[in-house]
Amino acid sequence: MFFDHASTTKIFPSSLQQYVEVSENCYYNPSALYKKGLEAKNYVEKSRSIIKRCLNASMLDQLIFTSGATEADQLAILGSIRKNGGKLLFAEGEHPAIDQEAKDLGQKGYRIEFIKLTKEGVVDIVDFKKKCTPDVVFISIMHISNETGAINPIASLVQIAKQVNPSIIFHSDGVQAFGKIKVNVQQLGVDLYTISGHKIHGPKGIGALYVKQGITIKPVLLGGGQENGKRSGTENVPAIVAFADAATNITKDIEQHYQHVLSLKQYFLDSMKGYAPFRNHSFGSPYIISCSFIGMKAETLLHSLEQYDIYIGTGSACSSKKTNNRTLQAMGLSQEEMISSIRISFSFEQTIEEVQYLVEKIKYEVDRYLSILYKK
Ligand code: PLP
Repeated sequence: MFFDHASTTKIFPSSLQQYVEVSENCYYNPSALYKKGLEAKNYVEKSRSIIKRCLNASMLDQLIFTSGATEADQLAILGSIRKNGGKLLFAEGEHPAIDQEAKDLGQKGYRIEFIKLTKEGVVDIVDFKKKCTPDVVFISIMHISNETGAINPIASLVQIAKQVNPSIIFHSDGVQAFGKIKVNVQQLGVDLYTISGHKIHGPKGIGALYVKQGITIKPVLLGGGQENGKRSGTENVPAIVAFADAATNITKDIEQHYQHVLSLKQYFLDSMKGYAPFRNHSFGSPYIISCSFIGMKAETLLHSLEQYDIYIGTGSACSSKKTNNRTLQAMGLSQEEMISSIRISFSFEQTIEEVQYLVEKIKYEVDRYLSILYKK
């Protein structure tokens, strides 16, 4: 049983089928001038329109396909900043795709500031207002935290930022929001928004950056000038088509999925009420539970659940080998809470019976471990 859907998801059968069909029947280069190339190009453009609709974007906005969210995040940052520009703001606890880039820019001499998180895992508005000065040129704040599920009030943050300086470019990493809650990029007011295929039951190796009409970003990858000159490299047509199919499927039943997953999270939290080692650190999104079982290291619990074919996470999969979780640290958790923190993340396909089984096995393994520990 897979409880690590914030790290990746299984591809929808229809998306896989489209991936295979396009790979077999329309493997042509979309830049080619003959009619087969045009056919491939049409697939790309149709998929672009579909995904834009799923984001509630205007058809005049751009959507740049990339190799995934990591690349889209880099494109958002590196494509927006200018030499000798102003200050760049990032939230603490961003995904490493943002955080590492921000720190690298800091080392290269750019003026970087990080906005504090509250203990509920969202950006601290007081700190945000203090740091959002007229010399800020770029802001990146994730929509939903991949660690805790905390939902940042992006629309309000954009409004505050634009009042300070209307030309600030506001980016949000929407990887854990798109397909889970209704996303309307126009209502959010963001200039740039990142999404990823494999987090919404689409294929891996495909993502996109939404770019609001009128916003100019510089390309990071130079070459043949694909994607309107913004991202060179032959388009991954099968993955793009499958991504659009997954986006269609996932947004169609979004409300129903949300209510179902909410009942799963509620069941888990109710089952842990009064259970002494349990601490909850998750807020907002029902898709993610971040919690600790005090006294049992996260990695020990993760491996002990494997014998039941249960797979959970210990935070961001890409950075799970690092000992301190930046997000939880920024929220002020103790060392004891951090080393025992796990991440459970749901898919709409999961059942209450699976969660019952998870609760039963976690309690059994935690009790067993703690009883051995205290006997020593
Ligand atoms: N941003 C967030 C919030 C994520 O959760 C992830 C994946 O863990 C990424 C970016 C990176 O996504 P990708 O694997 O598509 O590069």
